[in-house]
Amino acid sequence: MTSEMSERVNSTAYLHPLFPITSPHGMSFADKSTDTELSSRLRDDLLDLDAWGEILATYGKTMRVAVALTDSNGCVLGNLHNAQPVWTLVHDAAHDWIGCSFCINPGVPCTAVAEALASGGVVRTHDQAGLTHVTVPLLLGKHRLGAIIAGQVFDRYPEPLALRHVAKEFGISAQPLWDVARKQRPIGSTVLQASADLLLALGQAFLQQRYASIMEAELAEANGQFRLLVNGVRDHALFTIDPTGRVTSWNGGAQHMFDYPDTKIMGQNFSCIFTFEDVQNHVPEKLLSKAAQAGQVENEECRVRGKQKHFWGDFNITALLEDGGTIRGFAIIVQDVTERRRIAILMEEAKQERGHAQERLLSHVSHELRTPLTAIYLVTTNLLDGLLGDLTPEQHEHLALAVGNVKQMTSMVDDLLDITRVESHKLTVEPQRASLVKLIAEVLSTCHKNASSKSIRLCSDLAVDQPSVWADPIRVRQILTNLIDNGIKFTPEGGAVTVGSRPLAEDSSLLCISVSDSGCGISPEDCEIIFDRLAQVKSSMQASRSGLGLGLFISRDLVSRQGGRIWVESQLGHGSTFYFTLPAFSLAKLCAHVLTAANLEAGVITLIAVDVVWVEGTVESDIVPEIRSVLERCIHPGQDILLPPLSDAEPEKAFFIVACTDSNGFEVIARRIRRELQSFDTASKLRPAISSTTLLVEPGHSHEERIDGVSVRIERMVQAHLMGKEKLQ
Ligand code: ADP
Repeated sequence: MTSEMSERVNSTAYLHPLFPITSPHGMSFADKSTDTELSSRLRDDLLDLDAWGEILATYGKTMRVAVALTDSNGCVLGNLHNAQPVWTLVHDAAHDWIGCSFCINPGVPCTAVAEALASGGVVRTHDQAGLTHVTVPLLLGKHRLGAIIAGQVFDRYPEPLALRHVAKEFGISAQPLWDVARKQRPIGSTVLQASADLLLALGQAFLQQRYASIMEAELAEANGQFRLLVNGVRDHALFTIDPTGRVTSWNGGAQHMFDYPDTKIMGQNFSCIFTFEDVQNHVPEKLLSKAAQAGQVENEECRVRGKQKHFWGDFNITALLEDGGTIRGFAIIVQDVTERRRIAILMEEAKQERGHAQERLLSHVSHELRTPLTAIYLVTTNLLDGLLGDLTPEQHEHLALAVGNVKQMTSMVDDLLDITRVESHKLTVEPQRASLVKLIAEVLSTCHKNASSKSIRLCSDLAVDQPSVWADPIRVRQILTNLIDNGIKFTPEGGAVTVGSRPLAEDSSLLCISVSDSGCGISPEDCEIIFDRLAQVKSSMQASRSGLGLGLFISRDLVSRQGGRIWVESQLGHGSTFYFTLPAFSLAKLCAHVLTAANLEAGVITLIAVDVVWVEGTVESDIVPEIRSVLERCIHPGQDILLPPLSDAEPEKAFFIVACTDSNGFEVIARRIRRELQSFDTASKLRPAISSTTLLVEPGHSHEERIDGVSVRIERMVQAHLMGKEKLQ
């Protein structure tokens, strides 16, 4: 037996693309077929004999060859169609037919199927009787499913010698075999080759078509099940609409929720489920346009029209896209969240009520404690200062201890008051331009006494020429005091606490303040929690007794409200460094919202100075906020800005306005300011002097550069004006 590979056709030429079917998840089954194992059920279905029988029988009859389907081991599956006479005669005479069903080579295994599957091409085989057959592989992607064998024919006139040999081997008479062979018309080599090519093409095409129809049937079944599932969902309305909003599918849950049977709603615009007011306000259209833009809308709550009354629906809308990206509709899920909302509102009210009660209690207790504490403090300090007579050293020592305890209690009461303010969002932060160097120096001097009582050195390490910060000085003092006091508290006698400040290396628009100590340090786990409310570390319990675990919590709130961040770096036994950041003061940032591209395009900016002269001696600084609010009323918010206090003078006497206008605009603003100040100051105690300078905006720079340029010039003029060197015109 000899077999040879055909060079002409290779089955892989027929493998791709498979019929493209897309699964519900968008995965192509064709792709899947090459990647995943085929189940034995799918293999059986693909080689189903009923399906293949007709095509093989027709091929055998038309081409006048024997044909059969085999599995991947070469075993014939089902019938051998159109068996040929010579082969039949020999086969019938044989007692046991072992081996290939197409070769008269009993006992010799035929390797044609294995070769065809390995090569992917046609394999042609000759046997000892001169009969030939072709084997074509059946491949699905990487899967070797089986083969089709066709043949039992002569490809040239039969050879008597070979047939005599066969007759002898099988114990049959040579003459009848020769007579049958002579009548079996040979099929020429070229025709045989062409029919093998055709068989390969037919086999692969049929296999793929079969695969596609099996997958289609599976998909249809899955879709059917999915539809049943969707319809069975009762507590969610699930429906689809087309791009114009018309309902295209409507599940049982939607029927139940909106009391519309699908027969009535199909084709109607889905806006009919919304309230009249929402339809008037175009809520349905807005939801769809949002979903179209973002691909999805999640958890939008709207009032919708229910069975008997309106309810709150939670909408989730997904845009359904064609392959090309155009929207073919929307899938909508609505859940009734009325009860959930009611409970959430009740919980929020209860929380607020609890908060208010707690706030009232804390505030009451704190105020009640404060008054006697102040009285005790006054009396004890008077006694200590010897105002009520001399004290023995022992009395002095006891009284000093009492004063220390009173101070500590006062600070605890202050923390309690602040915590109620943090939780009711009433802790006020009023940023202004402030000098960090000055603030740090002030706090260090107030902490000095406390530090020296423990022989702790208080040091500062401040970068020179630091910009000022944009922060509330009262709050910065409070944060610094807390951090320095902690440093002193958790550092043993003879240690040191150092306060530093410098621009943050990664972001020069922030200043970074540090408070380092040589104290007990904090473990990494505790570093995570010490900023939490009431957090105190067990290991430092002794020192912590004098606090409530609120200082860092309040400090974190205060820092974050001023646009900064607070953190700690520490190692147990090696001291701690607390850092916090604050924004550097920037006139450019402050003015950015009025120095818009359009305003700068006009080419002129006017700086207005309002100097208020107090006629009768000094004026209380609490009149300043009132003057500021009068000035605020005289400017156009999107166009002009009243600058915050830019000097440390108390009370503030010069107010500055940056106005995006020219000298004519200035005249209008100045008239308004005079008029408003006059009606505010009926007793004529203020003498306002209003002056201005108009700057030309330098063209040709980027927007940011122009803002920076204008801001620098304004800053310079303000400083010059404050120092009395230069008056505005
Ligand atoms: P307290 O008033 O208890 O000091 P804080 O909120 O200021 O409250 O601090 C919380 C806890 O963090 C402290 O009780 C202490 O355990 C730890 N802690 C704070 N600062 C330091 C520090 N400099 N060194 C070691 N531990 C500290």
